[in-house]
Amino acid sequence: MARRRRPPVGRGTPLASSLMSGSFLTGLECPRCGARHDATRPQNLCSCGSPLLARYDLDAVGQAVGPTDIAGRAADLWRYRELLPVGDPAHIATLGEGWTPLLPAARYGAHIGVPRLLVKDEGLVPTGSFKARGAAVGVSRASELGIRHVAMPTNGNAGAAWALYAARAGLRATIAMPAAAPVITRKECVVAGAELYIVDGLIGDAGRLIAGLIGETVFDVSTLKEPYRLEGKKTMGYEIAEQLGWRVPDVILYPTGGGVGLIGIHKALGELRELGWIGDKAPRLVAVQSTVCAPVVAAFEAGARRATPWPDAHTVAFGITVPAPLGDELILDALYATGGTAIAVDDAELLADLRDFGAREGMWLCPEGAACLTAARRLRATGWIGADDEVVILNTGTGLKYPDSVEAWPES
Ligand SMILES: *Cc1c(COP(=O)(O)O)cnc(C)c1O
Ligand SMILES: [Zn+2]
Repeated sequence: MARRRRPPVGRGTPLASSLMSGSFLTGLECPRCGARHDATRPQNLCSCGSPLLARYDLDAVGQAVGPTDIAGRAADLWRYRELLPVGDPAHIATLGEGWTPLLPAARYGAHIGVPRLLVKDEGLVPTGSFKARGAAVGVSRASELGIRHVAMPTNGNAGAAWALYAARAGLRATIAMPAAAPVITRKECVVAGAELYIVDGLIGDAGRLIAGLIGETVFDVSTLKEPYRLEGKKTMGYEIAEQLGWRVPDVILYPTGGGVGLIGIHKALGELRELGWIGDKAPRLVAVQSTVCAPVVAAFEAGARRATPWPDAHTVAFGITVPAPLGDELILDALYATGGTAIAVDDAELLADLRDFGAREGMWLCPEGAACLTAARRLRATGWIGADDEVVILNTGTGLKYPDSVEAWPES
């Protein structure tokens, strides 16, 4: 922040507050109808129903900062602050999130024929899942915009993360989650002092409960209904590129529920390409889903632009049980644009791969992360992943949050 910035050029003017801290946010844009929206006020969806995307003055960012400046900064996601929406650092609610290791998994990789396999281990972030990234940035920006009370439905991890970060920021949080969500995520909400509703149903039912509570003083922070959670999650894309020395891998596999991380990584790498910090190559993005809840896979296989809601279902990979993702169009765009694919895996296979991986690599992945192992193995078997491909899988949470994914003896 000691650096002086030249006046911004091109594509809009940064918001006044951004000049203080280094955010170059210029506004919000609808990816479907192109409408621009004021980012200085709280915003939800576009009037056309699409999620909104945050836009930055990338020319000015490129003049103000470069990869070497960033290299010297603290090991958290705020190292990319010019490309994040929070204007005044006083509003940053942080627990030390981001800059997770990108670990080689050569032994397991060799076993499945993908020797250049890497795992981005999001099990090491606060709250135990990568939802902390979205919560840190989303809560901080909400606080900056004067919001005092946030509410959301969740499959567990997002609610836990938002409850804890809301407490950190001094905001109220109301969370609704299905009774079947991991019990630990309920307890995280309790510890955070959030108002918690347990719903006998799925995330859609929790969503209907929350919709009834939204009003003047309660702000809806459901997945993709506000634009800044995505900005937190996109930092996984910046980190993968920076950790590889400002280049991208061949393939990234992502366990896809609402798809926020996948859309975010695609957006982040697009921003880095526009900045000229990485080359033109885009990794092929893979949406990994469960065979019992695969709306994105079905849409991709049909070559469709939108997904059809999936009938209710249960999987051990609870974080990817999203029957009707609001960002379907953006997820599918990212898959088509990068020459990617979508694949569904079943619980028995992913649990077996979770064990196999743990024994070979010493990491206890979450079931959603393990789903990416199964996907990598199967895509290698079909030849879609080549033997020389550098492949990154996202382990989106710590296995410790899912003690029942492995049996021990005596039987419990
Ligand atoms: C939420 C969640 C996912 C899915 O993330 P999206 O960005 O919503 O697709 C994957 N894994 C875990 C552990 C999660 O909590
Ligand atoms: Zn629109």
